[in-house]
Amino acid sequence: MTASTPGDYDTIVVGLGAMGSAAAFHLAQRGQRVLGLEQFQPGHNRGSSHGETRIIRLSYFEHPSYVPLLRRAYALWHELERASGEELLRLTGGIYVGTPDSELVAGSLRSAREHQLPHELLDAAAVRRRFPLFQPADDQVALFEEQAGMLFPERCIATHCRLATQAGADLRYAQPIRRWSATAGGVEVHTTDSTFRAARLVLAAGAWAGPVVGPLGPLGGQPLPLQVERNVVFWLQPRETPEHFSADRFPVFIWDDGANGQYYGLPHHERPGVKVARHHSGVVCDPDTAERSVTPADEAPLRRFVRHAIPPLDGAVAGSAVCLYTNSPDEHFVVDRHPKHTRVVFAAGFSGHGFKFASVIGELLADLATTGRTTPEADFLRLDRLRQGT
Ligand SMILES: Cc1cc2nc3c(=O)[nH]c(=O)nc-3n(C[C@H](O)[C@H](O)[C@H](O)COP(=O)(O)OP(=O)(O)OC[C@H]3O[C@@H](n4cnc5c(N)ncnc54)[C@H](O)[C@@H]3O)c2cc1C
Repeated sequence: MTASTPGDYDTIVVGLGAMGSAAAFHLAQRGQRVLGLEQFQPGHNRGSSHGETRIIRLSYFEHPSYVPLLRRAYALWHELERASGEELLRLTGGIYVGTPDSELVAGSLRSAREHQLPHELLDAAAVRRRFPLFQPADDQVALFEEQAGMLFPERCIATHCRLATQAGADLRYAQPIRRWSATAGGVEVHTTDSTFRAARLVLAAGAWAGPVVGPLGPLGGQPLPLQVERNVVFWLQPRETPEHFSADRFPVFIWDDGANGQYYGLPHHERPGVKVARHHSGVVCDPDTAERSVTPADEAPLRRFVRHAIPPLDGAVAGSAVCLYTNSPDEHFVVDRHPKHTRVVFAAGFSGHGFKFASVIGELLADLATTGRTTPEADFLRLDRLRQGT
C-alpha cells in the first residue's frame, strides 16, 4: 500500500480517454501538478474512443447551442496540431441526407442559419450529380458544408497525453480507481494498492461515469442517469471504384434512413475499407460485460442501408469494432462541478457525439477545476437540467 503525500498533486484526473487526456493537457499547460489515472493501457479498445476516425462538423443538428463550443474545439485542435506537429484533423466536407423535416436536415439547417455557417442545400438530383456514389430517394435533400471532416482519435488522445507529460503531468496506466472521497483540504483517490491526494479531482470516466461520479444530491441522491449502449462500426470493402472513397473525393456523411435508423460514414483512411455504421443500436449494456464480438444481426440493418443508399460500397466486411455510447436522458453532455464537493468536477454523457468536442471539454474541465466557472456558452450542459421533475 502506497500513499502520495498531501501536496504532491494539484489535480488528479480519472480516465485518460478523449476528455480526460484533454483535461490533463490543459491543466498541465497551466502549470498544475497533474496525476492522471487510467484503468487500461494507452490506446485500449474497451471504451468509446477507438476506431481510427471520428466525424467533426459545425452545422450541428443536435442543437445550435453547440456551435460556439465547436468553433473553439476546431481552434484548439488546430493549436494542438501546431504544438505537436501531428495531423489530427482532415477536412473532407460533410453531407447530411434526409427528408426536409428530419431532425438531421432541419436541425443542421437551423444551426447553419442561426450561426451564419457556410452551407449548401441540395435536392436529391443535385446530390446524385455531385456525389454519384450517393443514391438518395427523390423526397430526400441534403445539407453540405465544407468545414466538416475527420479526426484521428487515437492520435488525438496520444498527443494530448504526450504534451501533458512534457508539461510535467504524471500519467499512470493499469490503475483502476476504486473510490474517491473529499477531505477537509482536498480529495483522496483510492486504487487497489495506493491512495493519492490532491487539491482537486476531475472525473472523465466515459462509460463508467455513473458509478465513478457516484450519487448526486440534485438527482435525489441517485447517480447520473446514464445508459451505456453497445454500437458496432464496420469497414466495408467497396464493390467498385475504391479510389472514389478517398478523403479528397468522399465527404463524411450522416444519413437519416427513416425507420431503418440513422447511419454515418467516413472516407477510407489507413485501415482497409470504408468506415460506416448505424448511429444508436438501442442495445443497452454494462461496459464490463458488453458483448465484444460482432454478429450477423449487427450487420443486417447496415446492409439494408448501404444497398440502396451507397450501392458501390456494398462489398465484403474488411473489419469491425464494438464501441460504447454513454447516453444521457436528453443526449446532451453533462459538464459541471459536483454539487456537494466543489473541488470535484466531471464530464459525462457524451451520447455518441462527444469526440469532436474533446479539445474544448478539456479546456472547460480545466476552467471548472481551477476557477470554479466555465464560459457561459457551456451553461446548457450543466447538471441542473436533469433535476427530477424539471
Ligand atoms: C462507434 C462510435 C462512433 C462515434 N463517432 C463519433 C463521431 O463521429 N464524432 C464524435 O464527435 N463522436 C463520436 N463518438 C462519440 C465519442 O467517441 C465519445 O463521445 C467520446 O470518445 C467519449 O469520450 P470519454 O472521454 O467520455 O470516454 P473514453 O474515451 O472511453 O474515456 C473514458 C476513460 O475512463 C477510463 N476509466 C473509466 N473508469 C475508470 C476508473 N474507475 N479508473 C480509471 N480509469 C477509468 C476508461 O478506461 C476510459 O479510458 C462515437 C462513439 C462511438 C462508440
